[in-house]
Amino acid sequence: MTMQKSYCKQMRYSGPESLPPSDASKFDVLIQMEVLAGCDHGCLGCFVDKNIDPAMNQQIIDRAKELADGVKRTGLNLREFVIGPTDFFTATNTESVLNNSVVQDIMREHTGARIAAPAKFDTASMDKVKEIFALLDDEDKYRRDMIIEFIMPIGRIEQMLDDDDYFDAVMEKVEFFKSGTPKMMDWSWTLQASNVVGKKIDKDTYNRIIDKANNEYQTIVEMNPAFSRARSELIQRKNLFGWNDFLGKVIDEDNANTTVMSMANLYCNSINFIGLTIVPGENGPTTHLNVMLHEQAFFLNNKKLDVTGLTFEEILQRKNELVTKGIHKSSKVKDCSDCQFAVACASRLIFEAQESLNINGCVLNKDVLNNYNPFDFTWNDGAMEKLGAKA
Ligand code: SF4
Repeated sequence: MTMQKSYCKQMRYSGPESLPPSDASKFDVLIQMEVLAGCDHGCLGCFVDKNIDPAMNQQIIDRAKELADGVKRTGLNLREFVIGPTDFFTATNTESVLNNSVVQDIMREHTGARIAAPAKFDTASMDKVKEIFALLDDEDKYRRDMIIEFIMPIGRIEQMLDDDDYFDAVMEKVEFFKSGTPKMMDWSWTLQASNVVGKKIDKDTYNRIIDKANNEYQTIVEMNPAFSRARSELIQRKNLFGWNDFLGKVIDEDNANTTVMSMANLYCNSINFIGLTIVPGENGPTTHLNVMLHEQAFFLNNKKLDVTGLTFEEILQRKNELVTKGIHKSSKVKDCSDCQFAVACASRLIFEAQESLNINGCVLNKDVLNNYNPFDFTWNDGAMEKLGAKA
């Protein structure tokens, strides 16, 4: 196995913005399936529906295949196949999803694609980890060198920072990722709005988390607020604004470079990217265009973002229409009309989030964004050189 090297840098520059200009039209696709049911954890403020009925799983998986086939047909690149929404190691049906031959076909046909999953491997037993990897490492089922990315929510912050036994339990699994499987493994911590808004993490604690993650756990902290999963618009808004305030308090120009927010570079995952989520609906699976609002957010009640029943080509068309609509809308929103990020925000469908959340103004923290978007550039080699990423 190989742990991906220089992961921090790679996560920040792994999008198509790192492609040379000649490949700029070859953009990336993420498909997310909500198929895992059950979870043993009670993470603070978790908004995930743990009770998804697996009866609809096959239809969801078949829809994912239909979309993945469209990605291939249109010459685009399936970058990530997300299997969620609950914990990969304690969901009741992870094995059943991984044993599904359609899931295996998707991963076999898209050789650049990775499986990404929310996974609390910190408290999973070694037996359970080995059980799951016995499936993933079965070469009749999955490619030997496939990339797997685990995203692990930071649960109790003091435990992540100061508990030596806990540290050893995490690193035991990381050692297994290094030497017990041929897969290319990525993993990162993730901080969610529900864990910061209520607890009010101060800047010192935040800097300790980043430092501990980088220097001792040897990975990164991703910032995935996950607020859009909350059931009520009020809670979504509260968590979004709480998250923006939090970022403003803890991120400054000194630590911005060690804080990995791939989403903060507004030209990453914008016009060159499309994210889709398939969820169980009342009468079968529904498919939704994701909004890149800090992360892959989705708003189930927004009819324009609902692309159920559309072909992949029609979905591309819908996204283009919404980008154009967003650019028009930007001139009518006071905060956005003269904002340098307006086109990037329109490309990320952020104006649809404004509508969904009933907010007629900025939904991000522009002071924080300025730390990550210091130049007026688009994705190309020149910009990479300017950022010193091509040393
Ligand atoms: S004001 Fe905020 S939401 Fe509007 S374009 Fe600028 S960054 Fe995006």
